[in-house]
Amino acid sequence: MNNAPIRLALVGIGKIARDQHIPAIAANPAFELVATVSPSSRVEGVPGFPDLPSLLAAGLDVQAVSLCTPPEVRTQIARQALEAGLHVMLEKPPAVALSQAQVLVADAEKAQRALFATWHSREAGHVDAARDWLSGRTLKSVRIAWREDVRRWHPGQEWIFAAGGFGVFDPGINALSILTRIMPGAVAVEGAALDIPENREAPIAASLTMRHACGAPVTAAFDFLQTGPQTWEIAIETTDGNLLIRDGGSKMLIDGTAQPDHPDEEYPRLYARFAELVRDSAVDVDLAPLTLVADAFMLGAQQRVASFEF
Ligand code: NAP
Repeated sequence: MNNAPIRLALVGIGKIARDQHIPAIAANPAFELVATVSPSSRVEGVPGFPDLPSLLAAGLDVQAVSLCTPPEVRTQIARQALEAGLHVMLEKPPAVALSQAQVLVADAEKAQRALFATWHSREAGHVDAARDWLSGRTLKSVRIAWREDVRRWHPGQEWIFAAGGFGVFDPGINALSILTRIMPGAVAVEGAALDIPENREAPIAASLTMRHACGAPVTAAFDFLQTGPQTWEIAIETTDGNLLIRDGGSKMLIDGTAQPDHPDEEYPRLYARFAELVRDSAVDVDLAPLTLVADAFMLGAQQRVASFEF
């Protein structure tokens, strides 16, 4: 068996690439970071290219790419990479349209290369335990509250409020990725309200009403203007106890009792999974979170609210 590390290029050297991807790659002997691709940013000591065609033209031996760009450009880069025979890992959201994500799956199957649509929040410490706790219980209601300060977490990221930037769904899709992982059945969107600043194209706040297949109501409130304490919570009521997921899945309470914490291993777990997928040239793309967001945009009543500047 070939144990040589997978020669990886990291594409889109911004906040998440530096905060999470670079340390996770460095800590995983299954990968070697051989290049970066980003219009202006570089990583010291690693050959850098402004775009994927320049990397491909350089003739460097690269087997895989991990894409950390803003979502709008991701499909095009992923398609180029698959066509060049590279395995591809995608930051969330996997694409800006469901149809684009489906094209990527078809491309990967045709090229017989790995395609991994990551959902980092699903790897948070308590998500697997929450799924296990819920299985076999009867759901009464689910309430999601995902409220954060966009100026604190996304300073100057103008792309987030452009069409295809997802606005408040950029973090909100993390909640939906956890929801669709832990729920024992499907969830359907019934209504949505989207607040879009006068000078922007994507929502700064949104609320969703959904329903679980068993009939239980599921609501979500997403807000980008929360100052002070930040909220990333999912409160689940069942006929046999209550579960509260806090801090994006890194804390969990059962009937008010805090459960022991686990270390944050979201990105190490994603890269471990990508290594498996590369080995098997397999596709792991779950579009359930993106489907809920797409439905919210399709159904949502839109209202214009005050202009927003960072
Ligand atoms: P960011 O800080 O704006 O970084 C994105 C980087 O992509 C920019 O630095 C830019 O590089 C590069 N880029 C833009 N267009 C490109 C292109 N055509 N080809 C190659 N690189 C390009 O954004 P981010 O916060 O890291 O978010 C990126 C993605 O990660 C988003 O989908 C987001 O949802 C996801 N994510 C973010 C976080 C977070 O905490 N920020 C957490 C989890 C997931 P230059 O600097 O070279 O111009």
